[in-house]
Amino acid sequence: MENLIKDRAWIEINLSNLEHNINEVKKLLKGSTKIMAVVKANAYGHGSVLIANKLMELGITDFAVATLEEGVELRKNNISGNILILGYTSPEDLKYVIEYDLIQTIVDFDYAEKIKTLDLAKPIKCHVKINTGMNRIGERFDHFDKLLAIYQNPALNILGTFSHLCAADSKEEDDIQFTYAQINNFNTSISYLKSKEINPGKLHLQASYGTLNYEAGPYDYVRIGILMYGVHSLNSVYRKRNLDLKQVLSVKAKVTSVRKISEGETVGYSRTFKAPSNMVIAALSIGYADGFFRSLSGKDMLVKINGSYHKVIGRICMDQMIVDVSNLENIKEGDIVTLIGKEAEISAPTIAEKAGTTSYELLSRLGSRLKRIIVNDK
Ligand SMILES: *Cc1c(COP(=O)(O)O)cnc(C)c1O
Repeated sequence: MENLIKDRAWIEINLSNLEHNINEVKKLLKGSTKIMAVVKANAYGHGSVLIANKLMELGITDFAVATLEEGVELRKNNISGNILILGYTSPEDLKYVIEYDLIQTIVDFDYAEKIKTLDLAKPIKCHVKINTGMNRIGERFDHFDKLLAIYQNPALNILGTFSHLCAADSKEEDDIQFTYAQINNFNTSISYLKSKEINPGKLHLQASYGTLNYEAGPYDYVRIGILMYGVHSLNSVYRKRNLDLKQVLSVKAKVTSVRKISEGETVGYSRTFKAPSNMVIAALSIGYADGFFRSLSGKDMLVKINGSYHKVIGRICMDQMIVDVSNLENIKEGDIVTLIGKEAEISAPTIAEKAGTTSYELLSRLGSRLKRIIVNDK
């Protein structure tokens, strides 16, 4: 099957760009702060094992995933170093966290108490999550008695303490004030623990936009996802400092069929596109099951074929889509099409904006049918 990899649609991963972006992020770091590389959701669609392998080669020793299974997959593929599970793991599965030497997030006081009742082989390695205002997971920063009980829980081997900022990518004054309050709240809980002679372990608060837009700590880690992949959430996202980022991923497919249609003919399901004149159109071997949301239909999404940009027309199908190539000479079956690339017209944030979402969602939902291929050209 090896020779079929580029038969239909695939993802190219530029590992030189990953290295470049890591070096850019490092310019933001102070003192001994390290990068914890966030490779959840298959490394935002890039392929977690291949990304983590390259990161290990670059000297990264700390990783974060969302789920137990994501952590186990890394271990089964010989990824070493610390692997923090950022999300919830069912108490009955915590034995696997120990077996695979992962680190679990303690989501709140009740979860920690539940762990105390389990008969685990040894105290579970964990980082405690503090809720500083996002109100998703974490024990509240000012529930001092509950925090104290968590750190005194003998079933836990607490190696770190962290929180998460929820509006660090906003330029609204209200959000900026809120973010500073979150930073203060985190520091308040840490000071409290230290006043009780408790060691909170490694500290971390900022993800990509917290690192780019806020001076805090410095703490032991910054948790970096999106910036490492070389894209912004949106083209217009708030950034106080600019990095020279290079998009790591491109998505490619093929032209499968070229045809002429006459003025008035319609294209695709539900006949949503009607030819305003005689046209040349082409079918492509990629669709919404590969991650190009059906809601991108009719949104002037562009693709690049033989050096120029062409509009997607009609409804995007599960496995195919159709483009207007009337002004493209010499297009033929087998030509390679770029759907996500480094160019502004087809960059991840540009396409995400057309779909009414962010690069995070677009990338993390790229389908499992797409093979991930390593390229190293600059
Ligand atoms: C996903 C996630 C990150 C990474 O966020 P980026 O904005 O991609 O850097 C960091 N921390 C937590 C808790 C996350 O869920």
